[in-house]
Amino acid sequence: MHPKTIIEPFKIKSVEPIRFTTREEREALLKEAGYNPFLLPAEDVLIDLLTDSGTSAMSAKQWAGIMEGDESYAGSKSFYRFEAVIKSLTHMKHIIPTHQGRAAEKILFSIVGGTGKFIPNNTHFDTTRANVEFTGAEAVDLLNEIGKHPEIRADFKGNMDIEKLEAFIKEKGSENIPLCMITITNNSGGGQPVSMQNIRETKEICKKYGIPLFLDACRFAENAYFIKLREKGYENKTPLEIAQEMFSYADGVTMSAKKDALVNIGGFLAMNDDELAMKCRNLLIVTEGFPTYGGLAGRDLEAVAQGLLEIVDEHYLQYRIRSIEYLGERLIAAGVPIIEPPGGHAIYIDAKRFLPNIPADQYPGQSIVAELYLEGGVRAVEIGSVMFGKYDNNGKLIPSMMELVRMAIPRRVYTQSHIDYLIEVVIEVFKNRDKLKGYKITYEAPMLRHFTAKFEPIK
Ligand SMILES: *Cc1c(COP(=O)(O)O)cnc(C)c1O
Repeated sequence: MHPKTIIEPFKIKSVEPIRFTTREEREALLKEAGYNPFLLPAEDVLIDLLTDSGTSAMSAKQWAGIMEGDESYAGSKSFYRFEAVIKSLTHMKHIIPTHQGRAAEKILFSIVGGTGKFIPNNTHFDTTRANVEFTGAEAVDLLNEIGKHPEIRADFKGNMDIEKLEAFIKEKGSENIPLCMITITNNSGGGQPVSMQNIRETKEICKKYGIPLFLDACRFAENAYFIKLREKGYENKTPLEIAQEMFSYADGVTMSAKKDALVNIGGFLAMNDDELAMKCRNLLIVTEGFPTYGGLAGRDLEAVAQGLLEIVDEHYLQYRIRSIEYLGERLIAAGVPIIEPPGGHAIYIDAKRFLPNIPADQYPGQSIVAELYLEGGVRAVEIGSVMFGKYDNNGKLIPSMMELVRMAIPRRVYTQSHIDYLIEVVIEVFKNRDKLKGYKITYEAPMLRHFTAKFEPIK
């Protein structure tokens, strides 16, 4: 038998109730939150798709690991397990735990960054960019052209533009480029994967100019599974073998364990260079803690180690990638405009095409986000002019390039019936799109305004 339905590859041992609210209650709650879902108490949200970061459900073995955690200050047994699992995955010589991804970035770029330096990447995630720029260095995105077109379907829309990378190195001088990064999958670009060929070719260019290659590996397992599905020669390899090959081209890794290590907190930095590792550990002691715990508890290290073993399970990855694709397929079939093809961890609604009559300065993405909550208690996030908009000298909005709404799917948290419910909610909002109103901002902070801004619907 070849069943068509891909089921969740787990059964549920512990459950967390979710709270149902009426539309009237949600109207009051959203108004109270200034129409900004970031300001809603999570308890009042039915399906929470704000992020896939730190929101995973842990397995029974991970919870058992929490009890097994060795809380010794130095030389904890849990550290050695953490180190052994990451070494067998990445084959890196030095494994340095950190409390989350940005702490790894902060340490790395404090050492290699600085004014006059450049860090190329397919697309920097926002914390990576912030940590590069905080040192005075410049963060440069060299994404392949096809990755910039939300309506074009292609297999590897996260790829680095190899030609641009080489031209960039020649222009700036390899002595000013302390390292090059590739983010897998490309989070800011819709969770789109990078091909093995592209990682290999990027490595060849880096090697030619003596530049180390680092992977921002937050979603390495999702990327590995896309390679298995889409790249010739990898169909019969296991996700672990594919991941090991990806890491074999790298000289170092930064990772937020809150994504593909299936934990609620954690991260690491890994590398082969002895001298760089020594500098990183010295800084780690100042900012995070002793090198065998790095800002984490022993129990967290156990949970990360176990999560990294579970994430490369083929049944898990098949279910993960298929459930996002399923959500995407159903929305496309109903005419809802999304970034195609669906990425590995989220569906991005294209708010410009969804609400063509609401101009950027009335925040179409925010309007959809508000309506998703009102209609079905779903919390999503605007990734458009609320998040990235700037003002010119006359106070006029300079809109973001794209107006998107991201629905990020937490790992192992929601079942297919939750996703079916979500599909109904999105389609209902889409059917009523002519009734949706624009929004104006009534309060905003000078920086990162999307977290705390307040809005009002335009009558
Ligand atoms: C989440 C993320 C980070 C930062 O990790 P935190 O654990 O949130 O600090 C860096 N890069 C990418 C691609 C990410 O998705």
